[in-house]
Amino acid sequence: MSLFDRAIVRVLPAVPRPVVQLFSARYIAGSTLAEAVQVVRSLNAAGKMATIDVLGEEIRREEETRAITQAYLDVFAAIEREGLDANVSVKPTALGLDLAYELCRENLLAVLAQGRFVRIDMEDSSTTDDTLRLYRELREAGHDNVGVVLQARLRRTLEDVAALADLRPNVRLCKGIYLEPPSIAFTDADAIRASFVRALAALLDGGSYVGIATHDEWLIGESVRLVSQRGLSREQYELQMLLGVREERADRLVAEGHRLRVYVPFGDLWYAYSLRRLQENPAMAGTIARATAGRVLGLRG
Ligand SMILES: Cc1cc2nc3c(=O)[nH]c(=O)nc-3n(C[C@H](O)[C@H](O)[C@H](O)COP(=O)(O)OP(=O)(O)OC[C@H]3O[C@@H](n4cnc5c(N)ncnc54)[C@H](O)[C@@H]3O)c2cc1C
Repeated sequence: MSLFDRAIVRVLPAVPRPVVQLFSARYIAGSTLAEAVQVVRSLNAAGKMATIDVLGEEIRREEETRAITQAYLDVFAAIEREGLDANVSVKPTALGLDLAYELCRENLLAVLAQGRFVRIDMEDSSTTDDTLRLYRELREAGHDNVGVVLQARLRRTLEDVAALADLRPNVRLCKGIYLEPPSIAFTDADAIRASFVRALAALLDGGSYVGIATHDEWLIGESVRLVSQRGLSREQYELQMLLGVREERADRLVAEGHRLRVYVPFGDLWYAYSLRRLQENPAMAGTIARATAGRVLGLRG
């Protein structure tokens, strides 16, 4: 990322919301469940699986966490009705983690009770301990339809892999999008990649099913190499990408015989998710800066 892009990333929160919405539209299925269903249908038709995310995070009112929980139940009903090849991803702070651990657990149990697979997304490092505790408690209580996420960016991740090993966890492995201090996170791109590869090898060797979530060409290559070195069949792992990112690469991975799942977010609470996607888009910062500074779009925040 250039110095200019880094500067833009810092000022992204000051960019007018309509501009953010315009530039992030490709990353979001829409505001309604019907729109998400439509997107998942076409992904399925192209041989891709999906994980559906009801947008929302850092929710601080209990009734809103209940509404998001209900929205997930509606998603499951739609998956069933439409025969979609999809599961769901949930954010602990959307289900109430910022309010009370017990509230989050209760909401998550309601989602898990549907019996379909639920992936617990990983948020910033202030939530890591609680999220892993929640995951362990659920597994120890006999819920096998749940998976967790580990972030290669965090220095602790290899230890977390070891600590979870007795559960043979179903893990989505990603770099981690939240900017964390160097005391707890690798900041150098090569160090993050090396951490990803180490964690992936350890997870695969421990018998975990891994959702390998990256668009990084080098990491895709290394991951495929690790998987084939171990003689894993296509049912024993999956690749994962975000909606709107490197879609042509996703098509090629499917054509090459890999199973691939696309993260499909929908809903009205699109802002925080959109900022994160723009922040990591190498080509976007400058475009947004020009649009905003020059008021090319004539939009106001
Ligand atoms: C399915 C899925 C689920 C995820 N879940 C979580 C989670 O629970 N917690 C968490 O912290 N993070 C999550 N992430 C985000 C992840 O941590 C990274 O921030 C993100 O995937 C970018 O890292 P990368 O490995 O793709 O590498 P990068 O080096 O960031 O990207 C590699 C290349 O991909 C392309 N690219 C990447 N992002 C964009 C973009 N937004 N727009 C356009 N092009 C782009 C570019 O060509 C870039 O050069 C998830 C990612 C995926 C794919």
